[in-house]
Amino acid sequence: MRQLLLFPGELAPRSEPRVAVELDPQVRPPRIHVVPDGASLVLASRLSSLLRERVEVELTDNAWTMVSYRRVQGRLRFRLHHMFARAHEPVMRALAGFTGRNRRAHGRAIDEYVRQNRELIRPLAPRPQAPLSPCGRVHDLAEIYAGLNARHFDGSIHARIGWGRRGPGGRKRSIKMGVYFHDQKVIRIHPALDDARVPRYFVEMVVFHEMLHQIHPPAVDAVGRRIVHGPDFRAAERRFPGYLRARAWEKAHLHLLLRQRS
Ligand SMILES: [Zn+2]
Repeated sequence: MRQLLLFPGELAPRSEPRVAVELDPQVRPPRIHVVPDGASLVLASRLSSLLRERVEVELTDNAWTMVSYRRVQGRLRFRLHHMFARAHEPVMRALAGFTGRNRRAHGRAIDEYVRQNRELIRPLAPRPQAPLSPCGRVHDLAEIYAGLNARHFDGSIHARIGWGRRGPGGRKRSIKMGVYFHDQKVIRIHPALDDARVPRYFVEMVVFHEMLHQIHPPAVDAVGRRIVHGPDFRAAERRFPGYLRARAWEKAHLHLLLRQRS
């Protein structure tokens, strides 16, 4: 959680939130955190007496910025997450102190309070999933993926697949044929492979490789190095029928893939 950071695009101030998120949907009946009436006025007067200056408080339901302040026309204007409506004296002192010299120590106390109350922060809306288009001009990745999943994985791979976007054109020294995003379970294949000169068995090998990443997630070795293509992964990859043929094609035709128009 960040302090004093206004993220671009954050919504304009809302009116004082009256009821916060349910603490835990598993708990029945759900516990609800109610923001007391006039909480912002109470906070303002407490901060004002600690700081000995005029203070305004606006309560927010922000997901990112828990505390921010600025001076406006001779007064200190705080924007505080509504979790602070119930803050006790030490936290109030930290909020007041945060505007002064010893910011770091006070910031830690605020961070700690935010951590203890993080259930009150509304969850961020899930990021919209990037659209994936598996159907290319030449190769249909969805069909290739489904065939491989049935033949080699008993249908156990759960991923979405699509062509990657074209980058800037021109000669390259290497390209990444495919990539697998573990968190989203998404496979993207380099668009240079969607070419009539690229045989289907080569595209299949690349897709197979990315599918293997789901069953062989990255490991960390004894000295802390991240192992992405460990011995198990490489052994499984070599078991792909046509592996040698695809590798030989790659060696002989890599220049086709490297010389790309965008
Ligand atoms: Zn890989």
